Amino acid sequence: MRPHLSVVALLSPLLVHAFELPANLQSPLDSLKHGLGSLRDGANLDSLYHNFDALRQKLEMPAFVKQFTDPVGASPLLSLHRDLVRIESITGNENAVGTWLVEYLTKRNFTVEMQPVFGEKAKDKVAARGGKVSVASDRFNILAYIGKNRTTRTLVSSHLDVVPPYWPYEVHGQKISGRGTVDAKGSMATQIRAVEELWENSEIGEGDVAMLFVVGEETGGDGMVVANNLGLSWETVIFGEPTELKLASGHKGILSFTVNAQGKAAHSGYPDLGINANSLLLPALVALDNLVLPSSKTLGDSTLNIGLIEGGVAANVIPAFAQARGMVRIAAGSPEEVKDTIVQAVNRTGVEGVKLEFGAECYGPVHIDSDVEGFETIPVSYGTDIPHLHGDHKRYLYGPGSILVAHSDHEGLTVQDLQDAVRGYKKLVREALNPSGGKGVVVVEDVGGEGDRVEGEVEKEKDKVEGEQEEEVRVVEGEVITEEL
Ligand SMILES: [Zn+2]
Repeated sequence: MRPHLSVVALLSPLLVHAFELPANLQSPLDSLKHGLGSLRDGANLDSLYHNFDALRQKLEMPAFVKQFTDPVGASPLLSLHRDLVRIESITGNENAVGTWLVEYLTKRNFTVEMQPVFGEKAKDKVAARGGKVSVASDRFNILAYIGKNRTTRTLVSSHLDVVPPYWPYEVHGQKISGRGTVDAKGSMATQIRAVEELWENSEIGEGDVAMLFVVGEETGGDGMVVANNLGLSWETVIFGEPTELKLASGHKGILSFTVNAQGKAAHSGYPDLGINANSLLLPALVALDNLVLPSSKTLGDSTLNIGLIEGGVAANVIPAFAQARGMVRIAAGSPEEVKDTIVQAVNRTGVEGVKLEFGAECYGPVHIDSDVEGFETIPVSYGTDIPHLHGDHKRYLYGPGSILVAHSDHEGLTVQDLQDAVRGYKKLVREALNPSGGKGVVVVEDVGGEGDRVEGEVEKEKDKVEGEQEEEVRVVEGEVITEEL
């Protein structure tokens, strides 16, 4: 937006005199005057820009002026998206964006519940303040719905948190970038606007749709796990994550592991006196790195990543301890089967002093419904909150932007992506409330060619895995897929 600076500088005094200013604008206004003075001295353009930006955010301009000075602010969708992205919300620090969103949704006449995620203590604190949260460390999920009925047929849901590091919102022409613009504030903003528009057009009312925005999705889903205590269930849940505006047909499961090697410290000149833990660890890591894990035609290969290795204290000391941590993205088979394969591979090395541990949070490949006409489908490789929300609801995964840029230093999407996503979510909500496909319709892409529609109660289908090995696939609506080898 900086190219408009000269226009802004010219217009500012006019705008300021044209409107009656509330008292709280005095401070940024003073800063602005100061900034304009500095400009004459050739000083800091950046601070001038930020001063004007602060003023602009507080000033309610007529629509035609806003369209000219702040096209993003003139759009309910783009301004909501910008406001969400501007508030940093790296996992654990979701309070500010949550508090802002509670206010936004309340102003728009939604009934809003805040569900503490730090347990009873935080809950008491919230109650003691009459429902208002002001302590920065407080974390809470947000449930919003129309009217008094918190029980709704459909839920749309996404997450408030983003991955580090934070970098600010920017817009250049049609391109919008910044941390969270895609994952998942693009989904949040477009879900909210979709529900607002459907309500404005009287297409939905009380009891139809609720919105759930959770904390902690990026680090294990603690927010969604707590959301199970809301005491609610739904016919359909529409999850918002970047899917390039396609309906995800499934995503891989996860299993994390740690390999510990216990040796004995000694002087490196006398290796016979010690046991080198790094040397113990290496054969296990080579075995795991070369491991062939099950694949499926829908989700591709299971992949194993050795992500962290540490061992030893100095070059001249025989290391007493070494450790490696990794994660498997499971495309086929259960976490238990993958665990067995890993244990056997490490055992086959015949090295003693090596121990395996597995992370408590693990799940197999996740089946996602993708039976809505007019959407392309896509399998995805990342984890989501879908397996953390219990229940036998139908589930969709959809959102603007690509996962390929989501956690990167060039996260961004286009204005068109956001506008299309609002239309997409509205379509999905309509489908959820008035299903056209009928119960039991599941697209099983692996059977008889791409995207074949299988009518009726689909219970079992044959799926050929790579290497011509036969695999039984049990497709059950609303449950984690189980593929037995
Ligand atoms: Zn996400």
